[in-house]
Amino acid sequence: MRPYAAADIGTWDLTADVVVAGYGVAGAAAAVEAAHAGAEVLVLERAGGWGGAAALAGGFVYLGGGTALQRACGFDDSPEAMATFLMAAMGPGADAAKISAYCEGSVAHFDWLVGCGVPFKPVFYGEPAWEPAGDEGLMYSGGENAHPFDEIAEPAPRGHLPQMDDKRTGERGGGYMLMKPLVKTAERLGVKAHYGVRIERLVVERDGRVCGVVARSHGERVTVRARRGVVLATGGFTYNEEMLAAHAPLLMGRPGSAVEEHDGIAVKLAQALGAGVAHMDACEVAIHMDPQYLIRGIVVNGRGQRFINEDTYPGRIGQAALFQQGNRTFLVLDEEGFEEARRVSAAPDVLQLPPTWVCESATELAAEMGLPPGALEATLEVYNRHAEDGRDPLLGKAARWLRPLRGPLGAVDLEGMTSGFALGGLTTGTDSEVLHVNGEPIPGLYAAGRATAGIAAWGYASGASLGDGSFFGRRAGRSAALNR
Ligand code: FAD
Repeated sequence: MRPYAAADIGTWDLTADVVVAGYGVAGAAAAVEAAHAGAEVLVLERAGGWGGAAALAGGFVYLGGGTALQRACGFDDSPEAMATFLMAAMGPGADAAKISAYCEGSVAHFDWLVGCGVPFKPVFYGEPAWEPAGDEGLMYSGGENAHPFDEIAEPAPRGHLPQMDDKRTGERGGGYMLMKPLVKTAERLGVKAHYGVRIERLVVERDGRVCGVVARSHGERVTVRARRGVVLATGGFTYNEEMLAAHAPLLMGRPGSAVEEHDGIAVKLAQALGAGVAHMDACEVAIHMDPQYLIRGIVVNGRGQRFINEDTYPGRIGQAALFQQGNRTFLVLDEEGFEEARRVSAAPDVLQLPPTWVCESATELAAEMGLPPGALEATLEVYNRHAEDGRDPLLGKAARWLRPLRGPLGAVDLEGMTSGFALGGLTTGTDSEVLHVNGEPIPGLYAAGRATAGIAAWGYASGASLGDGSFFGRRAGRSAALNR
């Protein structure tokens, strides 16, 4: 991992002003902005083509503050409300400077994406779901309209989704519709890309300035000089078992929403130069159940107790399940709830799990589930008593979703039904400069995307990764281009 000294390189095989490692969302945004700022840009991509995790993604981009799409769908928002929400929901330990820059620049960033050709359909999707049923462009994607955030900040939907020609999530989904126009824009601006080229080391001048990379292509060593700067945009460390074991062990064996190329190379290369890291234990966590079901029932832990309002962002339920409840959780619903959810759900079958157990009474059900005697009954008694009055004084679920659960009950075993990706990474400034552990920028080195600790420090909202990856990717490209 140690950097090479420039003096030892001999000849350079390739040279550009700005060298971008990784052609996912952060790399594409960096390439466009660096080229726009007048730099000659070379992207090195390990895979056989552009895209990374971004092209496989559902496509949520977390934006707000009053974007044209929000306004077209009839929603007011402000950078202040957005920042207040993000500071509360992305923490503890959210980076106030990054969040402030992100919220202040969000409207312009949306316009920039549209300017690059990313299509958004001005239709709001208001159902509880992981993603819209069709090609709707706007959705709540972080629990903004649920307790406690609806009392902390004025709620607004901020999950912006590129419109799909023919929705096929994981193949030609919203993420692909985001990436394709960004790459086309980069190509129009003269950005060159080399595929099958995997960066392995950084190269530094005697004064510590990063001036290139050493890569491998088809087994051959390739030396690449960067006249102005190197941008690390190679993704996170979710597929590096050793790093997961050291920082986020609960995610081991359950990677999700990431690609195998996320092997932590950027973090390691920059750490070898003294870079700092942050929030290495934080993770996005999905729970594998359609929110249409979760919201109509109660989610309980292995003690038969509720622990979260079921109408919040399902990713918060996933995080709480994995990190606070030993990944042992159950969804309890009555017949009416199951039937209604089945009728309205637009989710794929894998997210519509049938009940594992069905029983006439809570006592029988709890026994089947292996819960401590009396615990589930007590939970249901309290929930139902307050639901009659349209209240949830324990966890603050909204009145709209409260209804006593009666008659035969079913429970879905959600034990282990979580997966996710690591959120921690390199410490960067608001201009995407990689920061040394002493707080100073490492000259010539920039980073963005999941290689960095972005706006999500612990909590998460769908769209935060494509959002901060594209936003701070642009800044990385621009900073590198202007570095002389
Ligand atoms: P990537 O987009 O993965 O790009 C990194 C690139 O670097 C890759 O192309 C990789 O091959 C390349 N690379 C790696 N190592 C090297 C190397 N040594 N040399 C050269 N190149 C290298 N996020 C959201 O915000 N909203 C969503 O709706 C969403 N849905 C998702 C759904 C799925 C199915 C998946 C898989 C992910 C989803 N995500 C979503 C997560 C999001 O896609 C990623 O977190 C995001 O793409 C990270 O951006 P990035 O630029 O850091 O990494």
